[in-house]
Amino acid sequence: MSLNHFETEAIRIQTERTQFLEHSTPLYLTSSYVFEDAEDMRASFAEEKERNVYSRYSNPNTSEFIEKICKMEGAESGFAFASGMSAVFSTFAALLNSGDHIVSARSVFGSTHTLFTKFLPKWNVSTSYFKIQDVEDIETLIQPNTKIIYAESPTNPAVDVLDLEYLGEIAKKHNLLLIIDNCFATPYLQNPIKFGADLVIHSATKLIDGQGRVLGGVTVGREDLINEIYLFSRITGPAMSPFSAWVLSKSLETLAVRVDKHCDNALKVAQFLEQHNKVNLVKYPFLKSHPQYEIAKKQMKLGGNIVAFEVKGGVEAGRRFLNNIKLASLSANLGDTRTIVTHPASTTHSKLSEDDRLETGIFDGLVRVSVGLENVEDIIGDLNQALDN
Ligand SMILES: *Cc1c(COP(=O)(O)O)cnc(C)c1O
Repeated sequence: MSLNHFETEAIRIQTERTQFLEHSTPLYLTSSYVFEDAEDMRASFAEEKERNVYSRYSNPNTSEFIEKICKMEGAESGFAFASGMSAVFSTFAALLNSGDHIVSARSVFGSTHTLFTKFLPKWNVSTSYFKIQDVEDIETLIQPNTKIIYAESPTNPAVDVLDLEYLGEIAKKHNLLLIIDNCFATPYLQNPIKFGADLVIHSATKLIDGQGRVLGGVTVGREDLINEIYLFSRITGPAMSPFSAWVLSKSLETLAVRVDKHCDNALKVAQFLEQHNKVNLVKYPFLKSHPQYEIAKKQMKLGGNIVAFEVKGGVEAGRRFLNNIKLASLSANLGDTRTIVTHPASTTHSKLSEDDRLETGIFDGLVRVSVGLENVEDIIGDLNQALDN
């Protein structure tokens, strides 16, 4: 009998109990740890033994969180960060040298895109971009100094899906690292390492927390790479706080049931929108009409909680729709128990040129819904009344 299914590991992996035999892992709010004697201290600093020394390096709460994510992703090792972006930045900063080159999907999280365009060039790291629709272009973008292929799937906010198996093959063929931001799928729905990813990054702020409370990030994958990332991070200090790790580790115990329900609600919302006469286009990975439906089915357990759709009537119609919303929140977050709607063309992606926006699938009337855990009839009722008004 197998006692290590996803849900079981998420609930049963925990740090050793203290002398109080607590049932649930306590919060270890301590910045440092004591040594038994001079020899213990010497051996610990010489890294001859694995133990906690200082919470910038490790802490029982962060270790528990990392161990769970590693199990869920099928990864050898990992490190936890204060936010998703500190995970993204530290991963690149640890692995890249001046002169290196990245090949990235055009549609990545906005701050990641700004990191590529504004900050990595300061260290002479350049990036070339491929369109999701022209994934075959990747090979033409590879240069002698290319080191990393980087992508997210499903993408934000257009909910496109990239073939991870294909990316894995290209990376292997050209001896490049494949790094996947798996935030939208969560470790429950998709495991990029199975398809050849060397590292997987998560913003734990989204569905992993799932209740809009704390920020967090994590990178997991090949041990040799994580060792580099660990050394960089232990020196530069982007570590996740023990409190956030404690919260997030508990969140993981309910990840499977929450995400199942999120996906169930999202599919119903997508089906409702698809038949609405004020809606042009609905994008949801598990709708048959999705351009990459077959790929989504191959690599994802369920379709996720993000639905994108286009309101007829362009930017103005998109804004009007948002103003008519009564139940859902207008917020920059996603993956929360509370349903959230955003209008990327007038907010998060308003600084992009119209061409760049259209190229990444952000039509003027595009609305992104992060479907929450409210009763789905209430969520659909709210969207329906906002469309009809
Ligand atoms: C939110 C997000 C991030 C950044 O995470 P933070 O925790 O906000 O720093 C990175 N990638 C994706 C896909 C995200 O949605």
